[in-house]
Amino acid sequence: MSETLDAAAPVKQQDDETPVIFLHGIERHYRQGDATLDILNDIELAVWAGESVALVAPSGAGKSTLLHIAGLLEHPDRGDVFIDGRPTAVLSDAERTRIRRNEIGFVYQSHHLLPEFSALENVMLPQMIRGLGRVEAKKRAVELLEYLGLGQRLPHRPAELSGGEQQRVAIARAVANAPRILLADEPTGNLDVHTAEHVFKALTQLVRATRLATIVATHNMDLAARMDRRVSLREGRIIEMG
Ligand code: ADP
Ligand code: MG
Repeated sequence: MSETLDAAAPVKQQDDETPVIFLHGIERHYRQGDATLDILNDIELAVWAGESVALVAPSGAGKSTLLHIAGLLEHPDRGDVFIDGRPTAVLSDAERTRIRRNEIGFVYQSHHLLPEFSALENVMLPQMIRGLGRVEAKKRAVELLEYLGLGQRLPHRPAELSGGEQQRVAIARAVANAPRILLADEPTGNLDVHTAEHVFKALTQLVRATRLATIVATHNMDLAARMDRRVSLREGRIIEMG
């Protein structure tokens, strides 16, 4: 992995390249009493390897719903999510779970780290659950945490880390199994401006270096401006913001 982490240059997508993730014709409607809430109406969104997309939209617009569907945590009412050009709606739950575990990393607004384990162990665990040996898991965890500026924090438990450090550990954990896709739902929503900036910088650097396809829901336009593309949701559809 070290060789890939060095090349932190923005990527240009090739026209003939298949997007890593492609949300096509996605609809999601919720029933509320007699009414139907049309949250996602006809979503078209493709993200290529190494590309970071900011999803900027007001609260309640459907950002989390979109990320849940993109992450195969939820089925859409219509449409499909293509991963590497392959449709996922037809797959069994077991196969969807396998893709989610191996190909998709999640970061949430709160870190969800295991409180009784160290930063290092929190990043080792998902790899060991997947079957990697302790030595290899540790090697990658150390490398990732050092890359994210946490080399001095390896033995610390989450409670002994600052909010920004906790989120950087959560990012390291999300990419520990070298997924192709990273989905982050307001990952800096609980952080102050300066810390959010630091976490975002680490995130975008990592995305480019590891050629992750990334969607980050955020309210912060300054941070969104740092990403390759900005999109919003209007009446349940994706609009490009440039
Ligand atoms: P955002 O993340 O942009 O704030 P969400 O995707 O969480 O938006 O929610 C979009 C809308 O869908 C909200 O109005 C929310 O109340 C509604 N919603 C989300 N999940 C459900 C559900 N399981 N049942 C009914 N309504 C829901
Ligand atoms: Mg949300």
